[in-house]
Amino acid sequence: MKGLRTLDFLSKKHEYTFLNNQNQKVRVHVRKVNNSSINMWSEGKSKKYRDCINLIESAISKTVYNDFPPIIIVSEKKLGHGAISSYDHIDDIIYLNSYFHTSSRIDEILSTQTFAATSFKDIFCHELAHKRHWDAVKGFYKINKNVYNNIIEAKKALDSDLEAYLSKQEFTYLQTNVSYYAATNYRLAKKNNSINSVNEVIAEVLVLDKKADPNLIRIIERELSYEKY
Ligand SMILES: [Zn+2]
Repeated sequence: MKGLRTLDFLSKKHEYTFLNNQNQKVRVHVRKVNNSSINMWSEGKSKKYRDCINLIESAISKTVYNDFPPIIIVSEKKLGHGAISSYDHIDDIIYLNSYFHTSSRIDEILSTQTFAATSFKDIFCHELAHKRHWDAVKGFYKINKNVYNNIIEAKKALDSDLEAYLSKQEFTYLQTNVSYYAATNYRLAKKNNSINSVNEVIAEVLVLDKKADPNLIRIIERELSYEKY
């Protein structure tokens, strides 16, 4: 039965540190959620967090994927105002903002049509895509350690086909074919010379699944094939 969790639903403790969306280093103390098939951890145990846990269970059960990393629910104060979720490739964790503990709050953010996501489930698919991308970077570096001096150089090389493809497209390509979020992030990252310029494009394309440009999908699938190494 759903909804009735005993008070001791949180047991094992853990501490995590991450950079939030304001680039501040924050520390959270979380407890593992018992009685769930999903690896979830929660910063709090109030109704808000329990509602979040139920919404996550329902969302994940609607996906076809079974390779989600641990999901950690943290306060908005810690994750940063306006952040929905994020993926930490060092600890291999998806963080979710506990602000999104009601369907109406989730629907409100999705209705802005900023993202490729149209459901809560898609938000987790977006973060899972970030994991796949980083796993591919790690895999590519592992088999090419003699070629690249560090993982950042390897990432640049691995992302280069996608970079080249995007640089040939019209200015409106990403907004029209992927999402507003992918377009603005790509542009901003290019301006700042970020090594992560294609990250959001990859995550958004995986949410669109087969609805994206087939050439773009092909390039991304080839890149992500290194995740198994
Ligand atoms: Zn993202």
